[in-house]
Amino acid sequence: MSQKFSTQTVHAGEIKPKPFGAITMPIVQTSTFTFADSAEILEFMQQAARREGGLRDEYGRYSNPTQSTAERKMAALEGGEMALLFPSGMSAITTTFAAFLSKGDHLILVDGCYHRTREYCSAFLLRWGVEVSKVPIDDFEQLSAAIRPNTRMIFAESPTNPYLRVMDLNRLAAIAKAKNIISVIDSTFATPFNMCPLAHGIDLVIHSASKYLGGHNDLLAGVVIGSEDHLVDIKYARDVIGGISNPNDAYLLLRGLKTLAIRIIRQNENGLRIAQFLEHHTLIRQVHYPGLSSHADYEIAKEYLAGFGGVVSFELDGDFKKTGRFIDLLRLPYIGPTLGGVESIIEQPSALFSLDPDARKIAGLKDNLVRYALGIEDADDLIADLEQALASL
Ligand SMILES: *Cc1c(COP(=O)(O)O)cnc(C)c1O
Repeated sequence: MSQKFSTQTVHAGEIKPKPFGAITMPIVQTSTFTFADSAEILEFMQQAARREGGLRDEYGRYSNPTQSTAERKMAALEGGEMALLFPSGMSAITTTFAAFLSKGDHLILVDGCYHRTREYCSAFLLRWGVEVSKVPIDDFEQLSAAIRPNTRMIFAESPTNPYLRVMDLNRLAAIAKAKNIISVIDSTFATPFNMCPLAHGIDLVIHSASKYLGGHNDLLAGVVIGSEDHLVDIKYARDVIGGISNPNDAYLLLRGLKTLAIRIIRQNENGLRIAQFLEHHTLIRQVHYPGLSSHADYEIAKEYLAGFGGVVSFELDGDFKKTGRFIDLLRLPYIGPTLGGVESIIEQPSALFSLDPDARKIAGLKDNLVRYALGIEDADDLIADLEQALASL
């Protein structure tokens, strides 16, 4: 019988019984895994040559039992055959690029991707002879027209940061499949609770697990999920490049994942409540939240998202300085980058992006834009805090 999501967050991927009768997966703090004798090495090498699954651990850069448990759990939650853990979301993204893109290949990057993903393409992939095109998230004619004979991968993010644009995954998957192109979605903002890209025919799902998956603002990790065919190639790249998560962070991720469903339910509720409150406030010019009918992608969001998420972006009726003053008046949220943890965090994206107003404009970050990444606090308290800050502006 297939288990429901909440049950899987607790039980999927776990070894039972565990070493020492422990209920939690131990942190296997070791760099290597030793063999009893030479015969065991020979047996291991023969099994590896036959490409059988279930290989024992050999060396910490290749696998670790704590990490493997987190990978099995993530594969189950996304409905994929296999998952791979990385020390950061960026490591997951760049190792995936390294696994599939060669000199002369062409990559299509859909607008709105994480700024460091875009930067990796312009600063490194171009240097290594990979061609890169950019297309809007909602223009499938332009996407189809951008495909060349050497197009190897389409990489998109959904929902995007900070405007929370949502992509029509069925259309993306159909276009990619027809041309045998690998489709990749950075699904960090959605989590497997809110969106299932693999079920819509997308090949690979990537997360910054530093956000909702870990969920407590205390770890950095990334994860890639997909078919074994694709993941074996990414595993080879990870083995060689060496970006490997450590067993402590893998443990923290496992711990975080067990409460993923209940955290996301609360964060979805907080997102919608706060978006609705802000939408009706006279000092707010615009709210960007895919759960509001005013959002450009509301219909697509309803089709693909089980919940609209815990991030609400909005534009204040004011300039750069007034927006900063509003943030300073809030008492509950921490001020800073990142999102997805139990603590609410707020930022003025333009302020953290660049001191140069022109650079901010080019990046599409309006000076009066605020990104509020809601935690699991009570929505009444979060709204009361917003009310007092707006009232004293
Ligand atoms: C944070 C983030 C990343 C990068 O992840 P790190 O874990 O910080 O390396 C990539 N994509 C999205 C959408 C993110 O929010």
